[in-house]
Amino acid sequence: MTEVLHERALNVLQTVFGYPIFRGEQAEIVELVTGGQDALVLMPTGGGKSLCYQIPALLRPGCGIVVSPLIALMQDQVDALAELGVRAAFLNSSQSFDEAMRTERALRRGELDLLYIAPERLLTARCLDMLDEVQIALFAIDEAHCVSQWGHDFRPEYIRLSVLHERYPQVPRIALTATADADTRQEIIDRLQLQAARQFVASFDRPNIRYQIVEKDQVRRQLLDFIRDEHAGEAGIVYCLSRKKVEETAEFLVEQGVQALPYHAGMDTVKRAAHQSRFLREDGLVMVATIAFGMGIDKPDVRFVAHLDLPKSIEGYYQETGRAGRDGQPADAWMAYGLQDVVQQRRMIDESEADLAYKRMQSARLDAMLGLCETASCRRVHLLQYFGQSSGPCGNCDTCLNPPSSFDATEAVQKLLSTIYRVSQRFGAVHVLEVLRGVDSVRVRQWQHQSLSTFGIGADRSEAEWRAILRQAMAQGLVDVDHEQYGSLRLTEAARPVLRGETTLTLRRYQKPVRQRRAPTAPGSYTEASLSSVQQALFERLKWWRMETARAHNVPAYVIFHDATLREIARAMPISLEDLRQVSGVGEKKLESYGAEIIRLISEPQAA
Ligand code: ADP
Ligand code: ZN
Repeated sequence: MTEVLHERALNVLQTVFGYPIFRGEQAEIVELVTGGQDALVLMPTGGGKSLCYQIPALLRPGCGIVVSPLIALMQDQVDALAELGVRAAFLNSSQSFDEAMRTERALRRGELDLLYIAPERLLTARCLDMLDEVQIALFAIDEAHCVSQWGHDFRPEYIRLSVLHERYPQVPRIALTATADADTRQEIIDRLQLQAARQFVASFDRPNIRYQIVEKDQVRRQLLDFIRDEHAGEAGIVYCLSRKKVEETAEFLVEQGVQALPYHAGMDTVKRAAHQSRFLREDGLVMVATIAFGMGIDKPDVRFVAHLDLPKSIEGYYQETGRAGRDGQPADAWMAYGLQDVVQQRRMIDESEADLAYKRMQSARLDAMLGLCETASCRRVHLLQYFGQSSGPCGNCDTCLNPPSSFDATEAVQKLLSTIYRVSQRFGAVHVLEVLRGVDSVRVRQWQHQSLSTFGIGADRSEAEWRAILRQAMAQGLVDVDHEQYGSLRLTEAARPVLRGETTLTLRRYQKPVRQRRAPTAPGSYTEASLSSVQQALFERLKWWRMETARAHNVPAYVIFHDATLREIARAMPISLEDLRQVSGVGEKKLESYGAEIIRLISEPQAA
């Protein structure tokens, strides 16, 4: 019985989706749900959640109902399924009455395999009555963490989705999310009455993403070098904290010849939507955005995510960086980080109106984020540990590839702390570092700080080195910023034992930012095999063909074929439909629609 089921599931995977094998626990999930049982699936972004309900919906009689809050994505999802020959439709507030009626009729006639519905629509009496009359294959509850009242994506309608279980006890349900923590998981189980569901918790590792956190120097220049050296002509997202910085950074990139667009909540809605749509549809655009951008962006070929400002938490960082490389191809998560980030984030927490408990939670999250930035060991190990998963050094992050050295910084930190103390804890970083390094500036003279005992005791280190030490002292909570006193530096309780010589401190040594190109093939690291020049030329031609085709069909390019599939075609250079069928990502429908064209394109003599 299960063997038969396995064969059938694999057959759908191969013929409809064109993929040779299931990934991770997909096969087990598909079989369980197809067999009529409930599942709770926790998988990182890009892990392959969609197939976990799409295939059972195709295998079971009736229509699979997919509940999703992301109505902006439904059109693209439905278009992508249509390209695969799957009969899908959606119901949400963005469509006309006529369109909705057409979809309802198709559902009643049993002409749909999958129906995407916004939760508020699903819960209307009209919609539930309609569902009473049709055969339902399953309910998929996507973005299931939206039931969590404590999460940032809370949707009140999600709580009422428990009605599905009460009303349709025979229909299997599958809840899916990329949110990892145990509390949210429990909340999903309780609120959706999923006590009987089997849980599948995938590894949250994203091995194809390379993590890099560099010291901020001239951040725009660093960003430009990074894009030019590693991602010229590729799609990426650059996150900034403020709208102003978004605008300025996008302008700067455009001036430098990078195709970039701004996106933030302060923009005119029409323009914002247009930018989002261009980013999804065109090849190789860079989106410069505040974190308002990205929820539910499932463009698979985003090659990098860059942060110009420190995210507030590791959860945020992981979610944002997770938008890179959903297609499994190599991608970069790059961040520039400096003293000012620590000061700014601390200030935002201090100055917020929230209550003490909330501020404390925010501080703890920020501290965890700072810990990630300052770690001298593998970033990935650190990240996964935060999500409760253990692992070994990855070989694909900056600290693995270029291990930072650490040093006994006890004496240096003592010098820094005493200087802060000597200037009566009433001056900011610039002044403190000038005194420490013995800079004879106007301000130092004005306060006669050149006569302090600590004046010049740190002359042996550069300003950049001292900034790195101060930043780490702040990250470790030895030094605090008094925002009501113009940003003056203060010592905390934790500074006492250090000053008294009772504790020693090890810090990361300052590294002058260097331009790091992707190493050819470090053993054990994650890289793709490169294409020969002939294959590369074919790949470029295939991309052109894809762009034209996508435009003609009015769908995003990746809906036609993913980069990975085109690259594989360029490598294999199939000369028959039979050969083309072997390429991962080429299913029966696409073979029928595009196979002949592609074979022709490959065999055409190349125009000079
Ligand atoms: P999620 O919803 O978990 O973020 P998706 O379902 O969008 O992820 O899948 C991410 C990408 O992985 C998609 O491009 C999808 O086509 C691809 N994918 C999923 N399962 C497989 C598989 N078994 N083999 C190859 N590619 C797959
Ligand atoms: Zn690593």
